[in-house]
Parts: sequence; structure tokens; C-alpha cells
Amino acid sequence: APYVGVLALQGDVREHVAALTALGAAAGPVRRPAELDRCDGLVLPGGESTTIGRLARHFDLLAPLRAYVAADRPVLGTCAGMVLLADRVLDGTPAQQDGSETVGGLDVTVRRNAFGRQVDSFETPIRLRGAEVPVPGVFIRAPWVESVGPGVEVLGRVEGSPAQGDAAGRIVAVRQGAVLATSFHPEIGAGGGSVVHRLLLDVIDEAASAARGS
Ligand code: GLN
Repeated sequence: APYVGVLALQGDVREHVAALTALGAAAGPVRRPAELDRCDGLVLPGGESTTIGRLARHFDLLAPLRAYVAADRPVLGTCAGMVLLADRVLDGTPAQQDGSETVGGLDVTVRRNAFGRQVDSFETPIRLRGAEVPVPGVFIRAPWVESVGPGVEVLGRVEGSPAQGDAAGRIVAVRQGAVLATSFHPEIGAGGGSVVHRLLLDVIDEAASAARGS
């Protein structure tokens, strides 16, 4: 089974480990640069992106995390994790806006706390590209993706009419190569067998096949 690391500085670490092990993967926390090497894939969890970014810098994890993403290794960032992966952050702290406390590598512009300006948290089904049934999208002071670069595939949006306001139609799930990111928390409310975690495991499989040259 692949081994998936979950960055364990702050946030929803145990929930991601549980979701991954429920799918038959091995998973555990990552706190040091050396622990990254053995990971076939990595999750940057939800939590507080400013705290995670500050701690990552403090523990000299930013450069290894950037190298991990740059090497096209499989990564899933959720909520705060999406903010950390984004190349451009609107409404972030100065250190997020200049990239000194983010990982980057995902060619998107995110708006931090975007949904939170209207309603702090909510749940709505999200139809993900390629998935047969909608996934429960749990949003907690979540960012949305304001715009994507040319290499980024949009996997999901908030549905609904413009009458629902600013949130309708917003991009909330993306993929760029081996990097996946969601605005919502797939580790919460998934009821077992999370589609998003399954997708990460599929990306890990693809990466392993590519490395074997098949
Ligand atoms: N608002 C948080 C941030 O900007 C993200 C919230 C979350 O991960 N649930 O980091």
C-alpha cells in the first residue's frame, strides 16, 4: 500500500489519516523534512493557513515542501492547504501575499476566507468531474479559487443560481498535474470512502506507474 503523509503542524491531521486508512492506504503525520522523503503522497490539511505557514517556515519545511511539489509528487491541499499551495493569495496576510509563508506551486489565485465573508460555514453537495455521485462539501471559512492558470483543470464548482449571491459558480476543486486542491473539507462528512482521498490515491498510482515507465 502507498504511504501518505499528512503535514502535522496544525489542523485536521487525524481526520485525513483516518480517511486514508479507511481506503486501505498507510498514512501518518509528517513533521520533519526527512519524513517527507518516504511519502508517496502528501496531504496539506485544513486548519489555519497562517499558523501552518509560520510553523512550516520555523521548522525549515517550506523549501522541502516546495521541492516536493516541484518534483510533481502527489499532493492534496484542503482549505488552508489550498491557500498554502496557491501561487497567489488575495486577502491573505502580507507573508501569504508575498509567498514567504506559503508553499506555492499551484497556478491559481485563491481568495482567503472568501465564503466566510458571507456565512462562516455551510455544507453543499459538489459534483466533482469524473465522480458519479456528488460529494458532501463542508466549507469552513473556506477560500475559493478566483482564477486558474492554463495548466489547471477545474474539478468542481459550487452549484446554484446567481440569486444565491457571490458563491454560486465559484471554483472549489482543482487539479494541476499531481497536485489536487479543494476549498472544502473532504475528511469531514464523507461517511467513509471519500472520493477526494480516492482521487489522491489514484494520482499516487499513476505517479508510481509513470516512475516504472509503464
Ligand atoms: N480560513 C482558514 C485559512 O485561511 C482556512 C479554514 C479551514 O481550513 N477550515 O487558513
